[in-house]
Amino acid sequence: MTPGNETSDLDRRHLWHPFTQEKTSPPPIAIREARGAVLTAEDGRQYLDLISSWWVTLHGHAHPAIAAAIARQAERLEQVIFAGFTHRPAVELAHRLAALLPGDLDRVFFSDDGSTAVEVALKLSHQYWRNRGQVRRRFLAFDGGYHGDTVGAMSAGARSGFFDAFSGLLFQVDCLPYPETWQGDDAVEEKEAAALAALDSYLDEHGPETAAMILEPLIQGAGGMRMCRPEFLRALAKRLRQDGTLLIFDEVMTGFGRTGALFACLKAKVTPDLICLSKGLTGGFLPLSVTVCRNHIYEAFLDESFGKAFAHGHSYTANPLGCAAALASLDLLEGEETPRRWSEIEALHRRRLTALSAHPKVARARVTGTVAALDLKTDETGYFAAVGPRLKDFFLRRGLLIRPLGNVVYLLAPYCITNAELDLAYDAIETAADEIA
Ligand SMILES: *Cc1c(COP(=O)(O)O)cnc(C)c1O
Repeated sequence: MTPGNETSDLDRRHLWHPFTQEKTSPPPIAIREARGAVLTAEDGRQYLDLISSWWVTLHGHAHPAIAAAIARQAERLEQVIFAGFTHRPAVELAHRLAALLPGDLDRVFFSDDGSTAVEVALKLSHQYWRNRGQVRRRFLAFDGGYHGDTVGAMSAGARSGFFDAFSGLLFQVDCLPYPETWQGDDAVEEKEAAALAALDSYLDEHGPETAAMILEPLIQGAGGMRMCRPEFLRALAKRLRQDGTLLIFDEVMTGFGRTGALFACLKAKVTPDLICLSKGLTGGFLPLSVTVCRNHIYEAFLDESFGKAFAHGHSYTANPLGCAAALASLDLLEGEETPRRWSEIEALHRRRLTALSAHPKVARARVTGTVAALDLKTDETGYFAAVGPRLKDFFLRRGLLIRPLGNVVYLLAPYCITNAELDLAYDAIETAADEIA
């Protein structure tokens, strides 16, 4: 490379990175290659990926089975228009997802990422009621929920605290208090009762105008890895069903084993009306998402006229390469090895967090399946707390990619991570609690 032409030089000249204050952030690290849970930078330094590269990598980076499936598909059919045409990888993927999802979640609509999967769910819910001759304009969500960065998804996640710059652009979504809980929380039942009472009074007033409630089941991700109990979701679903309000599970993060079950809805024993899946869908190889709905939703769009059809689609709908990657990832998920790893990771999280809970700077230790989190007791809290970037830097200097959400430190590793690697991460978190918090 000629001087001035290095990756970092060209990056500085041309790139604009996501969720980044370009003026004050340190320059990005150029990654040359990745394998398993290890990222290798151009300068030869290595980083252990403990956040699955923004929660997408499932089985490890560059997994050979998925890489081979994509290569085979690329030589045969890379892309074809999905209106008026179909193809084997999309059909097989839809068939397998429908078999794995509970109840009659059988109808699969493809899009490209988590945000568009959420847009599709919101638009389907709105039009479902319209097609049935009812006006239901209200949407319901939880405080702290995050559903993506497009305008509808931002509206649903307005109380996540990320979107103040866009508040003038968003449509109204009403929010309920979220009963987050953690190890040793003795007020959880009180919080759940308060949340359900708030839901009851909301539905008393607005039930017949409410199209749908959207939520991240069991774990609110970007909002701070805030966890709730399965029994709460069951009680909530029962109330919504009584009113006919549709229930949308945004499992963009929780899908594909993160919660220790293939989907959070299976762990919670709740069948939502619509479910959004993306991040782990292709094993972390390619952008792809699905919104899967129950049959009664699909049927409300069937008519002689186009007016009741779902007028929505993306250029790359059901991209065959993404579908081939997803099928290869499902093969790995359905083997014996992966679910065993979920249990082992969860057991290690519980052991290390129980010990860490005794640390005077650690609060609210929590685990759901393969996801573990804790709060560091710092002066400032929340996503924008200054301690966040300091912690990130502290971990990077130790070769660990851990990206705290403000004062919330979490681990969400690919399933190929070893116990020894996780122990390294916990040792570093303990040191951070001593030195940084
Ligand atoms: C990441 C995320 C999204 C948005 O997905 P993108 O692929 O980033 O658009 C939506 N919902 C949840 C729960 C997420 O974690």
